Amino acid sequence: MSFAELNLHASIQKAISACGYATPTPIQAEAIPQALSGRDLIASAQTGTGKTAAFIIPALERLAKPGPAGIGPRVLVLTPTRELAAQVADSVARYGRFLRMRYGSIVGGMPYPDQVRLLRQPVDLIVATPGRLIDHLERGRIDLSRVELLVLDEADRMLDMGFTDAVDQIAAATPKKRQTLLFTATMDDPMARLAGRLLKEPSRIAI
Ligand code: AMP
Repeated sequence: MSFAELNLHASIQKAISACGYATPTPIQAEAIPQALSGRDLIASAQTGTGKTAAFIIPALERLAKPGPAGIGPRVLVLTPTRELAAQVADSVARYGRFLRMRYGSIVGGMPYPDQVRLLRQPVDLIVATPGRLIDHLERGRIDLSRVELLVLDEADRMLDMGFTDAVDQIAAATPKKRQTLLFTATMDDPMARLAGRLLKEPSRIAI
């Protein structure tokens, strides 16, 4: 399959071509059409498989279309660490460089004032680590009522790091009718239970 077959927005296709990608990786070829269909998805995929583009490209497709009025993010990506959040934000910048959209990171260990400023203006996409996001949520500084798409990246690591309650609390602050994509390298009982709580009739992909 080619990227052209995915019928992506011209600005996104252009950015992918500029990255020099010839064809989608296997996870992208399977996950992107599923995600674009609006279905929930559980994808078992390791780092290095191209999984970041597999969720950022569908996220950007949503943002290429106008959303409802409001200032909270339409797409929320949760990652276990700030290093991974930085990599995801870098992918957003690369694949979204020809789109008009605002994005930012809300991660631990970084100063609050910049984050507070970011959240005071309309933003389309937020990449966050659960602890710091909860902090802003509890202080009423972030509105998650506009979230259309919630992505849990490396969800197994988030559970290992003790973020289960935080992830549940964040998901509960987003609309029930959102789309949810869950990426994990492993699938054990706690992960299956998390998926059962947060996803609706997900399709499954294992690479
Ligand atoms: P990830 O698994 O998301 O960390 O991606 C691993 C690496 O693969 C990153 O450096 C990407 O830039 C690269 N990559 C992602 N998708 C493609 C593609 N379709 N073709 C070539 N390289 C890609």
